[in-house]
Amino acid sequence: MGTIEELNKFIKKATSPFHTVDSVCEELKAKGFTELNMAGKWEIQKKGRYYVKVYDSTLMAFTVGENGIAGGDLRVCSAHTDFPCFKLKPDAVINENGYRKINTELYGGAILNTWLDRPLSVAGRVIIKGKGDLEVENRLVDFKRPVMIIPNLAIHLNREVNKGVELNRQKEMLPIADIISKEADKFCLEERLAGLINVKNEDILDYELYIYQCEEGEKIGFDKTMFSSPRLDNLTSVKAAVDGITGAEERESGINMVILYDNEEIGSRTKQGAQSDIILLLFEKIMLSLGKTREDMIDYLINGKMISADVAHGVHPNYPEKSDITNKPMLNGGTVIKIAASQSYANDGVASAFIKLLAKKSKTQCQTFVNRSDMSGGSTLGAITSTILPMRTIDIGVPILAMHSARELMGVNDQKCIKKLLTCFFS
Ligand SMILES: [Zn+2]
Repeated sequence: MGTIEELNKFIKKATSPFHTVDSVCEELKAKGFTELNMAGKWEIQKKGRYYVKVYDSTLMAFTVGENGIAGGDLRVCSAHTDFPCFKLKPDAVINENGYRKINTELYGGAILNTWLDRPLSVAGRVIIKGKGDLEVENRLVDFKRPVMIIPNLAIHLNREVNKGVELNRQKEMLPIADIISKEADKFCLEERLAGLINVKNEDILDYELYIYQCEEGEKIGFDKTMFSSPRLDNLTSVKAAVDGITGAEERESGINMVILYDNEEIGSRTKQGAQSDIILLLFEKIMLSLGKTREDMIDYLINGKMISADVAHGVHPNYPEKSDITNKPMLNGGTVIKIAASQSYANDGVASAFIKLLAKKSKTQCQTFVNRSDMSGGSTLGAITSTILPMRTIDIGVPILAMHSARELMGVNDQKCIKKLLTCFFS
């Protein structure tokens, strides 16, 4: 299977942050990684491979060299598991004008009109009654087929549509789930959820459900040079980071680590987001378990290197004026190093030079992104994680077009580039 086909297969399974973490765990388990619980005593072994789920939607995976950490540095790659979409509200079902609609709120900065007229499905987790009185259990759910759609208004009813339409998230963006018959409608969302996981309706206490675009990714072009798919932001990076840590030639000394954070699209200020101290605390647990002191930990962290991987903007041929005048990342042009004087992207000359050397060593291409000086552009994990885990950090990623659309576009060769680059980083 080619790298793009593998990415496509992964994207199909990664339909919510919980599913992304779950699929990665399966992959890690198959590659000999052992699960640790966040709380409890850790007994980290030299030459060991481990992963920890952090509140089920964030994940930390790491390997320790056979000589422990002496003489080998800390190498971290971070990425994010979430994507812009819609989240179901509690009591979400609305019966109105002969249709069943679903009440949602926007999660992250989606391009709203790209979600219109597309088959949509629902995935996430359901919280059910556990064994004890106040205990609960989580179950993943995914309808895996189109269950709703947000139809456009006909042009005949809005002749101005092609001049641009402002879409109200509470009114125009509510998906339709069914046409309901005149008889009393007995539809119950909890019942449908219970049916997916074989429990009783009344056992369902709560849910965290996301709407996702369920059309598959596809290669595009007469020469198939492009790949169009939902969730390229940021499953391209998640996949490359996991491929990197599992496929790398093991280092004799040092720690390799992958951190996949949830909640990047909404600002990272959550217990499982990049602004949380949780990873620092878990890192301390690794060091203590290896018999190191807090001072050892601080020194090891300071000398570490972090690559923060997230998608970058390629030059759009219909809007070339939106790109910088000398730094123009091309699709299929290789991994993008992101630079910003404002440090909205984490970077310094040394980190940037390191990526260039890494690209050379891995025989892959790299290129540079800088915002136009009169535009602010975006930001990502690197700037945040490097304040919590203060080591040399650099933001890189696959160049794409249509970032935050329900379907984004990349070049077919760039996934291979970032995968090889990260594998080399961890080797
Ligand atoms: Zn992103």
